[in-house]
Amino acid sequence: MDVMNFNETCHTPIRRGTPRFKTFVRKKLRLLCVRIKTNEHTEASVRPPKPRLQKPGGYFSGISQIQKRLSAEQYPQRIASLQANRMSLSHVSLANPGAEDYPLSKARTSQRTPKPTLVICGAGIAGVSAAYFLSQLWKGDLFLVDENPPLSFTSDRSSECYRNWWSDAAMLALMNRSIDLMESLARQTQNAFHLNRRGYLYLTAQSNRVEEMISEAERIACQGAGDLRIHEENSKTYQPAETPKLDGADLLLGNALIRQHFPYITEKAVAALHVRRAGWLSAQQLGMILLQKAQQNGVRFRRARLIDIEVIAGRVRRARLNNGESIACDIFVNAAGPYLKEIGRLLEVDLPVENELHLKMSLRDHLRVIGRNAPLLIWSDPQELEWSMEEREFLRADPQTRALLSTLPPGAHVRPEGRGESQMVLMLWDYQARPSPAVVWPPMEDPLFAEVVLRGLMTMLPGLRAYGKKMPRPQLDGGYYTHTPDNRPLIGALSIEGAYVLGALSGFGIMAACAAAELLAAQILDKPLPTYAGEFTPQRYQDAAYVARFVNDAPFGQL
Ligand SMILES: Cc1cc2nc3c(=O)[nH]c(=O)nc-3n(C[C@H](O)[C@H](O)[C@H](O)COP(=O)(O)OP(=O)(O)OC[C@H]3O[C@@H](n4cnc5c(N)ncnc54)[C@H](O)[C@@H]3O)c2cc1C
Repeated sequence: MDVMNFNETCHTPIRRGTPRFKTFVRKKLRLLCVRIKTNEHTEASVRPPKPRLQKPGGYFSGISQIQKRLSAEQYPQRIASLQANRMSLSHVSLANPGAEDYPLSKARTSQRTPKPTLVICGAGIAGVSAAYFLSQLWKGDLFLVDENPPLSFTSDRSSECYRNWWSDAAMLALMNRSIDLMESLARQTQNAFHLNRRGYLYLTAQSNRVEEMISEAERIACQGAGDLRIHEENSKTYQPAETPKLDGADLLLGNALIRQHFPYITEKAVAALHVRRAGWLSAQQLGMILLQKAQQNGVRFRRARLIDIEVIAGRVRRARLNNGESIACDIFVNAAGPYLKEIGRLLEVDLPVENELHLKMSLRDHLRVIGRNAPLLIWSDPQELEWSMEEREFLRADPQTRALLSTLPPGAHVRPEGRGESQMVLMLWDYQARPSPAVVWPPMEDPLFAEVVLRGLMTMLPGLRAYGKKMPRPQLDGGYYTHTPDNRPLIGALSIEGAYVLGALSGFGIMAACAAAELLAAQILDKPLPTYAGEFTPQRYQDAAYVARFVNDAPFGQL
C-alpha cells in the first residue's frame, strides 16, 4: 500500500540484542544466500498463481519453497508474430475519446462483425472494475480473459486500504471519485465488502517537523481533501471514532492528547495527523460484487492466457488465447497488472512501467498491543533500528544486510485485520526498494522481513517489544507494484486504434479501481470525461514539460 510520508531523520537508542538473534541471523543469512543464488538462475516470469498466505516453517519455509518455485512452469515469451502497421507509443498521439476517430463508431461502420466485441485481458481488480463499468452501456459482446481465477493475483495481496489524502491534486480527485463510487456500492449492497472509515493516523516524534506537517496538510486540504482541524492539549472537539460524514484531517498536537485517544502509541510521539476519508475494505468482496454484476450484464469470463493480438492496418482485430480460441475484437483493454508491459509488447507498444516487489505479513497480536478499533497507524519518521553489538557484526558481514544498520525510510505501518474476536494485525514496511525485472509467483520472501518490520513498528508501538523474545508465527506474502515513473496510473487509449490500457495501479489499485475503470469506460464509450482524465493518459510522457515536471523531479515517487 502507498502511504504518504514525511522526510526527516530520527535516531532511536540502541537496544541490547536478544539471545535468539545469533542463531536466527545465521539461519536467515544462510537462507538468504541460497535464495540469492537460486534467483540468479530463475528465468523471466515464473507463473502461475498460488496460495494467498504462505505459512513459513519457523519464521520462513525457505528451501522447500524455492524448490517449488524452480519446478514451476516457465512463462513463455511472446509466441506469435504480429501483422504489419504497428506503431510504438512514442510515435502516435492519443486518440481523443471525444473526436471523430472514436474507435467504436469505426468498428460499427466497418460491418466486420455483427456486434462490436470488447476483450479485457486481466481479471484483477482493474479488469473486473472495467468489465463492470463497461458492461452497463456496451452494446456488443464483452469478454474478460484471465489465465488465473479472477482476483487471485496482485489483487489478492493488498492490504486493502484507501485514502483521499494525496499531495498530487489529480490523484486526490481520482481517489475522491473512487471513494464516492465505493460508498455508493456499499449502500446498494448493505456494505457487503466491509468498507470502513477508520482513517489513517500519521505519527511523528520530531517536533521540528510539525510546522512542515501543518503546511503540507493545509495544502492537501485546500486541494479538495476536506478541512484541516488542529487540536491542542485538552481539546474536547476531536472525535477519534469512525464518523461516516467526516472528511479532511484532524491534527493532534502533544503526546498527552495523542495517548489519551491512542494509549498504545509511544510517549515520544509529538504530533498525529488523523486522515478521515480513509480506511479499509474487503477487496475480494468488492471485486466479486463487481464481477457478478458484470456477468449479470452479459460479460463472459474466459479462463485462458492471452497469447497474441492481431493488428491489421493499425487497429486491433483479434485476440488469441492459449486454449485455441480466437476472438474477433474491436476494442482491447490491457489490464494485465504486473504483465502490463508484456501485453503491451504484443501490440508493439512500450509501456513505461516497472514492477517492484512489496511484502506484507500478518500475525496474531495475542497480547492485544494494538487497539482493535485503531485506524491504520503509520510511523512517518525515518529510523535506525536497534541491534546488539553481536547482531551488528552479523549484519555488517553481508552486503545484502548491511543497509539495515543505516537509517531506514519512514512508513512502517500496521492495522487490525478481521472483525469480532480476531486478533490478527497486518504489518508492512518498504524499508528497501525491490525493483523486479522478472515477475516470480509466488514472490520471493525476504528472510529478515518479519524481524525488521516488527522492530521498526516497536518505535511507534513500544508494547510490541513483548514479542521481541518470542514472535508469534508470522504469515508472509507479497506482490508487485506495477508503477510508472510518476507513480500515476495509465488509463486510456494507446497508439493502436481500439487498444486501451488500465493499469500501473502501483500501491493504490484497490482504492483507485472504481474511478479508473469508470474513466476508461467513459473514454471507450465516448462519454463526458472528468477534469483529471488527461492526467492519466499514456500520452502524457510525450509532453516534455510534463516529463520535466513530474518524471525528472520525481516529486511524489510512490508516496
Ligand atoms: C503488499 C501489497 C499491498 C498493497 N496494498 C494496497 C492497499 O492497501 N490499497 C490499495 O489500493 N492497493 C494496494 N496494493 C496495490 C493493489 O493490490 C494493486 O494495485 C492491484 O491489485 C492491481 O490490480 P490489477 O488488476 O492491475 O492487477 P492484478 O490483480 O495482478 O491482475 C492482473 C491479472 O492479469 C492476468 N494476466 C496477466 N497476463 C495475462 C495473460 N497474458 N493472459 C491472461 N491473463 C493475464 C493475471 O493472471 C492477473 O489475474 C497493494 C499491493 C501489494 C503487493
